[in-house]
Amino acid sequence: GNESTVSITVVGASGDLAKKKIFPALFALYYEDCLPKHFTIYGYARSKMTDAELRNMVSKTLTCRIDKRENCNVKMDEFLGRCFYHPGQYDSQENFAELDKKLKEHEVGRISNRLFYLSIPPNIFVDAVKCASTSASSANGWTRVIVEKPFGRDSESSAALTKSLKQYLTEDQIFRIDHYLGKELVENLSVLRFSNLIFEPLWSRQYIRNVQLIFSEDFGTEGRGGYFDHYGIIRDIMQNHLLQILALFAMETPVSLDAEDIRNEKVKVLRSMRPIQLEDVVIGQYKSHTKGNVKYPAYTDDKTVPKDSLTPTFAAAALFIDNARWDGVPFLMKAGKALHTKRAEIRVQFRHVPGNLYNRNFGTDLDRATNELVIRVQPDEAIYLKINNKVPGLGMKLDRSNLNLHYAARYSKEIPDAYERLLLDAIEGERRLFIRSDELDAAWSLFTPVLKELEETKINPEYYPYGSRGPVGAHYLAARYGVRWGDLAIEQ
Ligand code: NAP
Repeated sequence: GNESTVSITVVGASGDLAKKKIFPALFALYYEDCLPKHFTIYGYARSKMTDAELRNMVSKTLTCRIDKRENCNVKMDEFLGRCFYHPGQYDSQENFAELDKKLKEHEVGRISNRLFYLSIPPNIFVDAVKCASTSASSANGWTRVIVEKPFGRDSESSAALTKSLKQYLTEDQIFRIDHYLGKELVENLSVLRFSNLIFEPLWSRQYIRNVQLIFSEDFGTEGRGGYFDHYGIIRDIMQNHLLQILALFAMETPVSLDAEDIRNEKVKVLRSMRPIQLEDVVIGQYKSHTKGNVKYPAYTDDKTVPKDSLTPTFAAAALFIDNARWDGVPFLMKAGKALHTKRAEIRVQFRHVPGNLYNRNFGTDLDRATNELVIRVQPDEAIYLKINNKVPGLGMKLDRSNLNLHYAARYSKEIPDAYERLLLDAIEGERRLFIRSDELDAAWSLFTPVLKELEETKINPEYYPYGSRGPVGAHYLAARYGVRWGDLAIEQ
């Protein structure tokens, strides 16, 4: 009959990402009955492995989300039974043709749809795309390719990569993943804003003083700094994850929820932004620090990192959108490794209430009265709004309290991993959460000049101790725009 099947090939199946994220996400989708009835999963890499060895490797990282469900092990075995492995080189048409033959055997004459997930280092992207598209494309269904960052390291290399990909694929076939877009609270941003009367009207320079996008990790590169050292925190986190969140946050209302309508608005807002100025960037690098009896390493103690590396492991930047809605509002970004805490959040600080009757209760520090909306993307997802409130009692004492939507308390369902949503969207052809080529160009245009300047002038990063709150330069940068970092404010 003309029923369809989907074949998912994980290229680079022996790697870290495949083991940690891709196979577990595929299993979770299978477990939730989200995969099509007819599907086959192939692992592809150079390592020699049999089907049984792949299954054994994969089985170690699968988890049953709801352990109590007794059919989990049954489901796991069913799933593993549909996983296969084909060893091959990334630049071999012949090896991909062999894969094609095997895929066809599973597809048994049905309409074949094929998804390739490229989980391999960037220097072999184009080879693999070439071979997959010319030797293992579907003959009668769709062929799609998911690619992981890095998408180049500046405007030129990114444009060159896109150009090479487009020799073999159309825009429609390219699914550039930014896994932050698959996170529950990032997806919820538009719901929060566009379907709540109490937020949408406030979403502009008229009521918002500044917006902060903060990413921190409480560990360093830990012996895996080789990749990172070539990119640095600005490319690794800001130019993609934080900027994507910013675009979703600040875009105008899209015509509809269709992928192209949303991505059109994101491109527009990115193109309305000023390229970042050198004086609006602070960079840092962590140095070793001893706490108790433990000595935490410096970035350059990592054996995979050159001893004299100036690569930033921390950066803060001020960005501006030159349009009617956001004129003059600083969007501050901050991202760092080896900091005191681990989190990703969006903080929106509102303006002061004009002529506030209660001003004297805040003394000279009116910032204490700022309403702040916090969207905590990870960990421990939450949305909370800081409001001024009267402390119960006979006197008139005010404090700041939170109206709090804590996901773990409100929703009993576990939140799916970002990769689950994104894989499902790719299978279903939903492109909303993937980065279009013009979006990527616009994102690189903002960051490329300042990245070049930083590297050409060999600006020294400000050193901060492992496990600290990062370099003080970030405070001066914020202060220059009248901003205090919300995550470091001392709660009164
Ligand atoms: P990985 O483990 O380094 O590589 C995946 C597989 O690619 C390896 O198992 C290996 O398979 C093959 N491979 C590695 N180096 C190669 C080389 N020089 N030439 C040819 N093949 C090579 O990568 P990953 O951590 O799974 O990440 C996968 C993708 O996510 C990559 O595109 C990477 O850029 C991106 N990414 C990963 C991270 C991360 O920290 N995990 C962060 C950012 C981006 P065989 O030897 O069996 O062929």
